[in-house]
Amino acid sequence: MNIYSFTKNELENYLIENEFKKFNATQILEWVYLKNIKSFDEMRNVSKVLIEFCKTNFTMETLKLITKHSSKDTVKYLFELTDGNKIECVLMKHNYGNSLCISSQVGCNMGCVFCESGRLKKVRDLSLEELVLQVISVKKEENININSIVIMGIGEPFDNFENIKRFLSVAIDPKMIGIGQRHITVSTCGLVPKIKEFADLDTQVNLAISLHAPNNEIRNQIMKINSAYNINSVMSAVDYYIEKTNRRVTIEYIMLDDINDSEKCAKELVSLLKGKLVYVNLIPYNETSNCQIKRSKDFKVKAFYDILKKNGIECTIRKEMGLKVSAACGQLRALSEVK
Ligand code: SAH
Repeated sequence: MNIYSFTKNELENYLIENEFKKFNATQILEWVYLKNIKSFDEMRNVSKVLIEFCKTNFTMETLKLITKHSSKDTVKYLFELTDGNKIECVLMKHNYGNSLCISSQVGCNMGCVFCESGRLKKVRDLSLEELVLQVISVKKEENININSIVIMGIGEPFDNFENIKRFLSVAIDPKMIGIGQRHITVSTCGLVPKIKEFADLDTQVNLAISLHAPNNEIRNQIMKINSAYNINSVMSAVDYYIEKTNRRVTIEYIMLDDINDSEKCAKELVSLLKGKLVYVNLIPYNETSNCQIKRSKDFKVKAFYDILKKNGIECTIRKEMGLKVSAACGQLRALSEVK
């Protein structure tokens, strides 16, 4: 078993079952997560028996790095899992810190027409270990701290909800990955029941909704999930989340040429969002060769932005990073298939 496959609770229980003490879990986790040891022999404040137990029961292997594409502010990693499946994650170096975008599944079943990830149907969910190891592997590879995590890579996190919950417990634990809750964001295409469950967790972890359209007619065309959970149901789940947590929700809106970027769309979006504790992130579309959809023209993005702003909707145009490293969801894996 990999030591990164446990939550703290799970490790505590496992150690207790094996006649160790609950606090031994924290000791081990501190060495593994905070002191970056390479072997359990390096643990100093624990008994020889516990060291031997760890050596026979646990490994601490990281993920196998297949390729790494770097540009000025972005590094994209392709990792191979033990069963041969490949996953991506992207490191973004902002002036306010390092942010890591991780994947939640191998492939994705959500079937958004503009998205490269969905070209590979879901093969399986990522395990807790594989979620955690994306963070640990990048930290070790670059010898850096990660300051924030976004779960916006390949896959639908709320379709792997149990492991995402376990991951969040590891990510926010100060003795483990140790990132502040407000510096973690989970992005969903809108699985309504899970948005509500997420709200009920009562954490400070941020929620981002991939809305991408101001009405059902357009959303039905580009996001298959809208036939199961339409805009109204997504927005009422968002209201529920805001009521429960009092946290501002990010609304993601990819600007797609002649699909969702008209003035009329901007006005509809204003009516949909007016008065809600949300902010809109307008995302320049990363074009892919497998799809005819084009990115919106710059002047249209600007006009759209102006309409939102003028009507009191908080809004930013996402800074583009990683275009040269094919950092849009699924693009690196797709590229590696072609090679
Ligand atoms: N399934 C989740 C998280 C993964 S997708 C979700 O849908 O939110 C992360 C974000 O990237 C989503 O907003 C998705 O719509 C967007 N995205 C997908 N392909 C893109 C592309 N080619 N260019 C820009 N953004 C893209």
